[in-house]
Amino acid sequence: MQCPKCNAGFETVSYDGIKIDRCLECKGLWFQPEELSQLRDDIWMADYILDAGDQKVGRKFNRITAIHCPECDADMRQEFDAEQPHIVYESCPEGHGTFLDAGEFTDLVHKTFWDRFKR
Ligand SMILES: [Zn+2]
Ligand SMILES: [Zn+2]
Repeated sequence: MQCPKCNAGFETVSYDGIKIDRCLECKGLWFQPEELSQLRDDIWMADYILDAGDQKVGRKFNRITAIHCPECDADMRQEFDAEQPHIVYESCPEGHGTFLDAGEFTDLVHKTFWDRFKR
């Protein structure tokens, strides 16, 4: 499998029985659909996994939006996160997974964390 944004390979990062693919170059993360919903409230996971990623690099790659699913090569579509619409990520229309740039997962998780205090 190759990174849809920079064509580098992925490494597998595992935690608590869940395996996430992380790009060796841009540190983008490839989530299976159920993994993302399982992990989106897991702050420790976000920090642990994404420590390696540089948000500046993530922002650069976030501008690349015309990408193909690393599994089936379909055009991925952009999605705005329902709770945090400033976060845009790409998902496979066939449901293979979602690609998050470095820093986006941390953003997703931490914003959720702070939102709890506002309620
Ligand atoms: Zn990459
Ligand atoms: Zn696909």
